[in-house]
Amino acid sequence: MAETKRDYYEVLGVEKGASADEIKRAYRKAAMKYHPDRNPGDKNAEEKFKEVGEAYEVLSDEQKRSRYDQYGHAGVDPNFGAGGGGYGGYGGFTDFGDLGDIFGDIFGGGTRSRASSQNYPRRGDNVVSRLELTFEEAAFGCEKEVASQRIENCAACSGSGSADGVIETCSQCRGTGQVTTVQNFMGMRMQSATTCPACSGRGRMVKNPCNTCKGKGKVRKTNRVKVKVPCGVDHGQSVRVRGEGSVGANGGPNGDLLVEIYIKRHKIFQREDMDVLCEVPISFAQAALGAEIQVPTLDGPVSYTIPEGTQTGKEFTLRDKGIPEINNPRRRGSHRFTVVVETPTRLTKEQKDLLRQLDGTMDQKETPKMKKFFEAIKDLFD
Ligand SMILES: [Zn+2]
Ligand SMILES: [Zn+2]
Repeated sequence: MAETKRDYYEVLGVEKGASADEIKRAYRKAAMKYHPDRNPGDKNAEEKFKEVGEAYEVLSDEQKRSRYDQYGHAGVDPNFGAGGGGYGGYGGFTDFGDLGDIFGDIFGGGTRSRASSQNYPRRGDNVVSRLELTFEEAAFGCEKEVASQRIENCAACSGSGSADGVIETCSQCRGTGQVTTVQNFMGMRMQSATTCPACSGRGRMVKNPCNTCKGKGKVRKTNRVKVKVPCGVDHGQSVRVRGEGSVGANGGPNGDLLVEIYIKRHKIFQREDMDVLCEVPISFAQAALGAEIQVPTLDGPVSYTIPEGTQTGKEFTLRDKGIPEINNPRRRGSHRFTVVVETPTRLTKEQKDLLRQLDGTMDQKETPKMKKFFEAIKDLFD
């Protein structure tokens, strides 16, 4: 193998008398160009990447460089860089201390963090779904089927990513997902661990990728699940369903499903915290004489007697007829209704005459609002 080696200076594209700085710069440039992350599956680039790494290893070390200058390839450690073992063995990326951050900048800074996380169990992502409920469904709780998009293990390959079930331990990293490299850098011995470039840190290699998932082992699917919505949920709240999110990695647990609650507008009810509000129209006669009226509530109509002389806008409260509390349905808010006196329209001539007769008998200055009003304008114009 040694006889086929190219000259290290030629590999880095520098002159024989190049300074350490020039060599370092040339190496950076070449390593970026041939980096496996940038040339996925490109065998030629992989070889080139190994080659420049090897050249730099020697030329950046003063002692090795001087031996190399004197004796050529034979002058450097014979075990070093010899084919399948040693340097060539890991076939990829080396983190050269301060040189490492150039990769960080280019490849999203992921090299080191990926190295520490790819192979370990990770929880799946949470997924979010929206659920629209009626006023009553939200008040009393319900069970609903909720659909969400999540990542699942591919059923065709049982999540392995392999079409034939043949999964081999990565030979580069022996299944650890990481490669440790020892480098001489500016005369210092440096050891570093990085993500295995051959298996992207998975530790496993699939020879024959599954067709359905393209070897990923995971697919995006619609998940339908029955969700128990507790009583008392309010608009904008979320119901969490454990384990119904995306599948975890390397045996990690599933994420959760978060169901966002949207409550449709009700025709007559409104909600204020745990209370239900509504308006009840009544006639002038009912207001004046008092009456038993039917009040709509969540539990159906409830009879209520309003007293005589009830003014429009007056609010009445029915206790424990409001929204049940979450996880404590026996405690409930109130039902608060407001009566609104409606002026009659389209009266017959006979009805109008009756009203005029009635009006003639009444002293309007005796009702509370009128009394206040006339006193006020009397002060104003006197
Ligand atoms: Zn590997
Ligand atoms: Zn598959």
